[in-house]
Amino acid sequence: MNDLEPQAVLSWIERFIIRIDDRVQELTELDRHSGDGDFGTNMVTALTRAKAKLSPAPADAGAPFSSLSTAFLEHSGGTSGPLFGMWFREFALAGQGSPVFTTALLADAARNGVATVRRLGSASVGDRTMVDAMAPAADALAEAAGNDVPAVAALRPAAEAARAGADSTSSITARRGRASYVGEAALGAPDPGAVAVALFFESADELQ
Ligand code: ADP
Ligand code: MG
Repeated sequence: MNDLEPQAVLSWIERFIIRIDDRVQELTELDRHSGDGDFGTNMVTALTRAKAKLSPAPADAGAPFSSLSTAFLEHSGGTSGPLFGMWFREFALAGQGSPVFTTALLADAARNGVATVRRLGSASVGDRTMVDAMAPAADALAEAAGNDVPAVAALRPAAEAARAGADSTSSITARRGRASYVGEAALGAPDPGAVAVALFFESADELQ
């Protein structure tokens, strides 16, 4: 299967929820290191709600992302909740009315998503935020779309780019968010929001 059908999108999101559940302690520790330690809880609160909202028979490729987005917008505290809600909203809009996610649609979603998050959070690449993982993943998807790489295969370089971006935040002093208050004390561990973005793209690894 080359394009992502609604069931595959659903499965991707379910895997993401499980991965975050498995890593909640680690994400909390990362936010303790550079912020206030609520990031893991914020994610799990939103994702528990998303799980309840996910339809087992999504109407189109964007529908599972719509549930995910709404859950973040309605049920997460912290700075990350609305930002993830608006990021996933772009995936919902890109897939709306479409029977599949093609690589081109994924690239559109990722490009619009990072643009929205950058606008709302006034963050650029290098500010030590989730943008540091979102932007390279969007670039990787755009490149894959240009090379006609099928959607499932295109998510692999996107995941690698997101992970490399997340890893890079370990050596960045924050200019945005709570981590900017602790300055150099945040060095040595990655930004939790960026790690969550890497986990999201990595959750597509087992799709086929
Ligand atoms: P809070 O700092 O309010 O406790 P969370 O713990 O929910 O928020 O989320 C922290 C994450 O939010 C950070 O790891 C970072 O990735 C992201 N973040 C914080 N501020 C911004 C911003 N201005 N732009 C983009 N992302 C941000
Ligand atoms: Mg926090």
